[in-house]
Amino acid sequence: MYNELNSNRIELIKGDITKLDTGAIVNAANSSLLGGGGVDGAIHKAGGKRILEECIAIRNRQGGCNAGEAVITSGGLLKARFVIHTVGPIWNGGNNGEDMLLENCYINSLKIAEENHIKTIAFPNISTGVYRFPKDRAAGIAVRTVMNYLRENESIEKVIFVCFDEENHSLYSKLIDKSA
Ligand code: ADP
Repeated sequence: MYNELNSNRIELIKGDITKLDTGAIVNAANSSLLGGGGVDGAIHKAGGKRILEECIAIRNRQGGCNAGEAVITSGGLLKARFVIHTVGPIWNGGNNGEDMLLENCYINSLKIAEENHIKTIAFPNISTGVYRFPKDRAAGIAVRTVMNYLRENESIEKVIFVCFDEENHSLYSKLIDKSA
């Protein structure tokens, strides 16, 4: 399940993000922050009610979360200390700012991680499930955005891409191998 790659601040894993003991795992949330299916459901199920309570508190303060933005809660019962909830764009043909919004998800999640002194962060393949973003295009954006960010920012030591399905895992392996 574990596959370390040449570029030493980026790793690729195939598996369930809720099992990781990184400083933070990222949740592909929806704008309500109240939980949903896919990775969001899995994180809330494994992390327990504290995560949802903190999401509700954030909602009460700021009224949910727009696509491209990120908020942070504790990790509840998870091994990860924090969960960073970011809202991916819903794919709508590709000419509605989807690429930039997806890029913002990665950048804003990394920024909030840095602000909280988090050294290791794991990302799922944001928007590639129910939100239907094409997987190859999303993988390209994810890898490029994270690599650019790491090049310019020292404080995050490791980013782990967690792929749940074989198609994403294979797309990410090719991209990361190529740029390593
Ligand atoms: P979105 O609404 O952003 O598309 P989804 O949760 O539907 O979010 O899917 C995002 C990605 O997360 C998909 O590639 C899906 O296969 C993956 N995924 C689902 N469950 C898990 C999990 N437990 N760990 C890691 N990735 C997961």
